[in-house]
Amino acid sequence: MGYLPNIIFLLFLVAGIGYFARNIKRLSRNIRLGKKVEVNDHISQRWKNMARIALGQRKMVVRPVAGILHIFVYLGFIIINIEVLEIIIDGVLGTHRIFAPLGSFYDFLIASFEILALLVIVGIVVFWIRRNILRLQRFIKPEMKGWPKLDANLILYFELVLMSLFLIMNAADAQLQHLGVPHYTKAGSFPVSQFIGHFFEGFSIGTLMTIERTAWWLHIVGILFFLNYLYYSKHLHILLAFPNTFYGKVNPKGQLDNLEAVTKEVKLMMDPSADPYAAPAGGDDGTPEKFGASDVMDLNRIQLLNAYTCTECGRCTSECPANITGKKLSPRKIMMDTRDRLEEVGKNIEKNKGQFVEDGKQLLGDYITAEELWACTSCNACVEACPVSIDPLSIIMDMRRYLVMEQSAAPVELNNMMGNIENNGAPWPFNQLDRKNWADE
Ligand code: SF4
Ligand code: SF4
Repeated sequence: MGYLPNIIFLLFLVAGIGYFARNIKRLSRNIRLGKKVEVNDHISQRWKNMARIALGQRKMVVRPVAGILHIFVYLGFIIINIEVLEIIIDGVLGTHRIFAPLGSFYDFLIASFEILALLVIVGIVVFWIRRNILRLQRFIKPEMKGWPKLDANLILYFELVLMSLFLIMNAADAQLQHLGVPHYTKAGSFPVSQFIGHFFEGFSIGTLMTIERTAWWLHIVGILFFLNYLYYSKHLHILLAFPNTFYGKVNPKGQLDNLEAVTKEVKLMMDPSADPYAAPAGGDDGTPEKFGASDVMDLNRIQLLNAYTCTECGRCTSECPANITGKKLSPRKIMMDTRDRLEEVGKNIEKNKGQFVEDGKQLLGDYITAEELWACTSCNACVEACPVSIDPLSIIMDMRRYLVMEQSAAPVELNNMMGNIENNGAPWPFNQLDRKNWADE
C-alpha cells in the first residue's frame, strides 16, 4: 500500500510521456509529407536567429506591452517547469523536496519560481482582458472564430490554474513545515504563497496535507495533460519556435526563391548539348514535375513546419496592406488553413493504414481561394512582423505559381501583361518598333 502512490505516479508519467511521443511522431510524419529542403547555408546565422528570436524573444518586444507580458509568461512557464523535475523525482521515489539539501540556493530557486508564477498570473489576466474585454482587432478577425478563440482562452485558464496550484501547494507545504510535520522537510522560501498561507492558519494537519497533496497531484497531472494538449493547440509554438527560427529565411528581405522546376527547364533550354526530344525532367515515377503548389504535399517541409509553429497572434494580418484595406486575404489564415489541411491529410493517412487516399479536396480552393492569393501585394510585411520567423508569402507565391503555370488561371490583367512581355518584350501593349514614338509626339 505504501508504494501505491509511486506506482500511480509512474503510470501517469509513462502514459503522459508515451502519448506525447506518439504526437511528436505524427507531427514529424506530417511535416515529412512536404518536399525535402537542404539547409546547409548560414549555419552560424541560423543559430544566432534561434537564440535571439526564439530564446531571446527579440521580435516579441516590437510591441512592448504584449512582448514584455509574453516574456513573463514564457519565462515563468519554462523556468517553473524546472521545478517539475523535483516533482517527478519525488513522485517516483516517494521523497519530499528532494533538492532541499541545496540549502539557500534552493530557497532562492523556490522564491524566484513564486515571483515568476505571480508575473505569469498578471500576464494571463492582461492577455485575457485584451482578448475578451478590449477585443483587439487582430483577435476578432473572421478566422479567429470557433476553436482558435476557444483554444486561446483555454490555454490562459489552464496556465492560471497551474500557477495557482503551484502557489497553493507551497502555501500548504509551508504551514506543514511550520507545524513540524514529519516528511515535510523545512526548505524553501515563499514570498508569494505566504499570503495564501494566512487563509490556512488554524487548519488541521490532515486538512493541510489533503490540500498540499491535491494541489501537488493536480499540478503534475495538469502539466502532463498540457504537454499532450500542445499538439492540438497553437501552443505547439512553445516547442517549434526553436527549429522554426533556425530554418527561417536568411535571404535578403523580400527575395523570392526561383522555382526549381522552372530553373531546370530554362537551363535545359539554354544548353546547346541538351537533347530537345528528351522526356521532361520529372519525379522518380516519370511524371512531369508539378509547378507550384495546390496541396500541402507540394509545399516544402519548412513551410509545413511554419504552419505548425504559427501562434495565431495575428501580427502578420494586422500589418498586411491587403487585409487592412478590406481584401479577403489574411496571412494568418493562410498558415491556419495549411495546418488544418495538413492535419486532414495526416488523419486520412492514419485511417488508410499509412497511405493517403484521394479525398477530392486540396488546399487550393477548399481552404484558400484564388481571390485571397491574388490580393497579396508580395510586400513581405507579414514575414517581417512574424515573431517566430514564419513566411506566409512563400506559400502564397507557390500557390500562385500553380495557378499561373498549371492552370493558366491568372487574373486578366496579369495575363495581358504576360502576353505583352511574351510578344513585345515589355508589359505594355505596344510593338517594340513603336517604342520611340513618344519622342515625336
Ligand atoms: S506579403 Fe502579401 S500577405 Fe504578406 S503582408 Fe504583404 S500583402 Fe499581406
Ligand atoms: S504567421 Fe507569425 S505573425 Fe502571423 S499569426 Fe502566425 S505567428 Fe503570428
